Amino acid sequence: MFTHDETHELDAAVMDGATLAAGAIAGVCHVRRPVRAARAVLEDGAHVLLAGAGAEAFAREHGLEMVEPSFFSTEARRQQLYRVRGTGRVVTDHEGASMTAAVPATPLDEDKKFGTVGAVALDMHGHLAAATSTGGMTNKRVGRVGDSPLIGAGTYADDRTAAVSCTGSGEMFIRVAAAYDVCARMAYGGATLEAATHAVVRQSLPAIGGTGGLIAVDRHGNLSLAFNTEGMYRGHARGTDAPSTAIFA
Ligand code: ASP
Repeated sequence: MFTHDETHELDAAVMDGATLAAGAIAGVCHVRRPVRAARAVLEDGAHVLLAGAGAEAFAREHGLEMVEPSFFSTEARRQQLYRVRGTGRVVTDHEGASMTAAVPATPLDEDKKFGTVGAVALDMHGHLAAATSTGGMTNKRVGRVGDSPLIGAGTYADDRTAAVSCTGSGEMFIRVAAAYDVCARMAYGGATLEAATHAVVRQSLPAIGGTGGLIAVDRHGNLSLAFNTEGMYRGHARGTDAPSTAIFA
């Protein structure tokens, strides 16, 4: 993902549902694996969210691998930026779709899908965890922070309810506190995981133009992989069962 200024700014978060400990970093471009930096913030414990130069210094101090920003550049993403930026509008990766004639080489149109990687897990002791890592959105303004590193928006885990990781038009996920809302619907309203995720993905988000989806697992091991877009790359595995993957609905 490139920002409007053709730079990179990566965001990531991780949360431990057993303790509600959380760590996140925003706006870094030299940290090879941003989610590990988020974990280092969690383990350090003093803060929850570090941004920009301070986050990079923290990552360096904690011995994380650092790279040149060009490490994150791909030609396809650069061309995607040029297509979108040429319109003079600030549009999301998602909205850029209407402006490209490019034939997608992957099952989902690269201009229509979100590029975030999320993970949620329930372990044998009943503990939940969630993590999200992203380059954000193509042509985003420099300094823009999405939902992914914001605890409660793009990432949340609480052993009493569920672990949730979101992908999509971040601004809307922030505005509905999407990940936390899933857990709140379960805790306060007694909703099942399925009902809670569908309320967020099919009602709350579309009501304000939010597109995307989320992956979630609850404390009983129920899964929800909900989205309101054409598809979402996703996979899951349970115990020693063979893992399964899917793209479309
Ligand atoms: N939610 C991410 C963001 O707004 C983008 C994505 O999921 O692809 O930064």
